[in-house]
Amino acid sequence: MSNKKIEYNNVNNIIYEKKINGSKYNIINHYKGCFYGCTYCNAKIPFNTVYTDHKWGEVVEVRNSSLEKFEKRISKLNNKNFYLSSLTDPYNPVEKNEKLTQKILKILSQQKIESITIKSKSPLLLRDLKLFKKFDNLNIIIPIFSNNSNIHEILENKSPAKHKRFNTIKKLRKKNIPVSLNIFPYLPEITPVEELIDEFSSFTKNFQLVPPNWKANSIKKSLFDFIRKIEPELLIRYHTIYFKNGEYKSFIEKEAERLKERFKINIKILDN
Ligand code: SF4
Repeated sequence: MSNKKIEYNNVNNIIYEKKINGSKYNIINHYKGCFYGCTYCNAKIPFNTVYTDHKWGEVVEVRNSSLEKFEKRISKLNNKNFYLSSLTDPYNPVEKNEKLTQKILKILSQQKIESITIKSKSPLLLRDLKLFKKFDNLNIIIPIFSNNSNIHEILENKSPAKHKRFNTIKKLRKKNIPVSLNIFPYLPEITPVEELIDEFSSFTKNFQLVPPNWKANSIKKSLFDFIRKIEPELLIRYHTIYFKNGEYKSFIEKEAERLKERFKINIKILDN
């Protein structure tokens, strides 16, 4: 029996301003929680503080803010850079019936906005191709972690498989929609970063390397359990090399430079 549950919650506001990697965005969080339930997801931290009786990936809260109020609010905002979303994947399976992301995009498409960034792993993105064409400054970010089906099974088995994300990128690019590939979580010696860049660089030259949120104990524990399972001796290397004296940061910076040179791509290191 499925444990999945949708909760409806009337909230006053679904937009809040936040800096992401140095730029200020108005983040739109019309869903909280995600049925994809990836183990390494940052959004599980705010979720777990509210839904203490449920596991991450079991509940999605549909935040029924009035769309008229939303429309009025965005027309008054000075900052017109929007980001969907930080508490969920805006095209998570609930979107198929609820269509809240689609309604929000329709409203945004009728306003003067600076930019819109949408981060999603879902092939449901393709449903809104026509809508995407209405934005002058749109960027779709597609996260990917591995091309290995065992790893997918352990860490993110409910999220779309790599070939589905690949097809989604291909179709988005065919329509000239800008796409960036977000390599997340970037785990040295595990994430097959070269293979991913090699495979996807015929569709996009824009890549991001994103380390996991090591500061969050629950995420660190999940990832360490995973590393212990697939390659126990690597855990020692993580402790002795990557986490010692800021080595992780300098490793990732050198790696980004090397990849940039080798593949002639744009690559940014982003915070989680
Ligand atoms: S798809 Fe994104 S938002 Fe959803 S659980 Fe996975 S990482 Fe989190």
